[in-house]
Amino acid sequence: MFECQQCGECCSHLGLVFEIIEDYGDYSNLIRNQYTGLRQIVSVSESLHMLYDLHDIFLERPEACPFFRFNTNDGLYYCTVHLTRPEICQDYGCWRFLILDNQGNRVGRVMERRHLHTESESLEKIWEHCIRTLHEDDDEIWDRKMCSIIHTAGFKIRD
Ligand code: SF4
Repeated sequence: MFECQQCGECCSHLGLVFEIIEDYGDYSNLIRNQYTGLRQIVSVSESLHMLYDLHDIFLERPEACPFFRFNTNDGLYYCTVHLTRPEICQDYGCWRFLILDNQGNRVGRVMERRHLHTESESLEKIWEHCIRTLHEDDDEIWDRKMCSIIHTAGFKIRD
């Protein structure tokens, strides 16, 4: 089941979607989805007020969501309004399968129906030669075959 890894990839460009319309000055803000026009109030969790006050992330990721922050203490990315975040954020799951190397490090994600996102050259090669060439219309069977190939190649897989 999808579980956010706090890698920070998905929220890094969501500043193009969410804009703050009004800052109420008490860590709550009225925001607007620039595509749907939907407005709502979001509140920064009390435990994240200090982190929210830091804005260094926008030097590195100028398009990040206004509520997205990086915590240098634990090396993780945070949604500072997690409990009140917009519905599209609540519904979003960035992977169906997570691929790990034999040390347990994340090396790839199977996203949407059959898309691989990876920076591992060896995994990319296996995907190109053994998985992209699978001719299987049934998604369940395709998933099983894909997992089996990934396992055989020495990777672990989580769903
Ligand atoms: S509200 Fe939270 S989950 Fe949604 S884009 Fe912003 S930081 Fe990410």
